[in-house]
Amino acid sequence: TEGSSRGKQQTLKVLVRVRPTNSATSEIAATVESDKVTIPKPFHDNATKAYSFDRVFGSQATQADVFSEVEVLLNDVFEGRNATVFAYGQTGSGKTHTMNAYSMGGSANNPTITLSRKDAGITYRAVDWIFEHIERYSINATVYASFLEIYNDEVYDLLPRSASAGELRKLKVMTAGRKVTIQGLSEAPVTDPAAFEKLFAVALRQRSTAGTKLNVSSSRSHFMVQMTVHIVGTQRELTSKLSLIDLAGSEDNRYTGNEGERFEESRHINASLFAIRSVVSALKENKSQIPYRNSKITQLLCDSLGGTASSLAVVCCAPELENLHPTHNSLEFAKDCCFI
Ligand code: ADP
Ligand code: MG
Repeated sequence: TEGSSRGKQQTLKVLVRVRPTNSATSEIAATVESDKVTIPKPFHDNATKAYSFDRVFGSQATQADVFSEVEVLLNDVFEGRNATVFAYGQTGSGKTHTMNAYSMGGSANNPTITLSRKDAGITYRAVDWIFEHIERYSINATVYASFLEIYNDEVYDLLPRSASAGELRKLKVMTAGRKVTIQGLSEAPVTDPAAFEKLFAVALRQRSTAGTKLNVSSSRSHFMVQMTVHIVGTQRELTSKLSLIDLAGSEDNRYTGNEGERFEESRHINASLFAIRSVVSALKENKSQIPYRNSKITQLLCDSLGGTASSLAVVCCAPELENLHPTHNSLEFAKDCCFI
């Protein structure tokens, strides 16, 4: 039946990336072999737990290897479908490295580090790919970039209206069915990768100013880059959107003993990550109602996750034994996201 064939259609692919260890002394808990990750079973001596996914990348994997899994989504964008890549994982697991390394630097906390082009993450590679594709096939396309931050369930525009503006613009999100409108969002036309990099730098500066104003670390908010591609062909005209998301850290916020402002922050992070999980579950079960409205992040994704959109979850894990619990939680999230 149509229902069952649709049920099997994979709208979300799951990729797990276990980063190399950054400690000379830590014991390693997560190991990778072909498309399987193995960890010691938490709270069980001498027992292990193995997880299989569509793709698993270990410490040897390059940024190019990871990007090769994104290319299929980019082809979909040029076919008129929306696409999403989101990175999930605890703080320090490699989300920013995977998504935004290069201008963001090797460390999310140190944007001044300059990496070589071969270290560039998914965002830069996607932008390069888009412009190469347009040129190779002589496509009549216009590309726009938007940069958003989602903090405490509020959406902020990271492109200032004028060069001098340091003000934060809170945006209103409206949805009608599967159509989403972000009122007042800046969409900057982009003509080439160099222009994109300039905009990205502006957005990062804005994010860091915003972080100072709101007293928030970048690992506590979601960061989203949206590339809109408008294609004018002889037969048809289409507009599609690529959303690239570096999610807030998924570590169990209850352990941090946070109060007040930080507690509020934790509550919103938990709720938004749970909302993503619920949307994916509903999609997997082919539910007629998908709970996009439970959170701003899922509301923003209602036209880009599920339906005709193609999505990739990049679940990042740290291999060290001291990170076993968050790693276990991330692998469980990844497992829940897997369509069989
Ligand atoms: P997150 O964004 O999840 O908090 P980061 O991307 O900032 O984590 O990664 C934490 C640290 O580990 C950074 O110093 C980063 O450069 C390093 N790192 C992450 N992934 C890799 C990788 N695949 N190869 C080399 N270094 C990595
Ligand atoms: Mg980060």
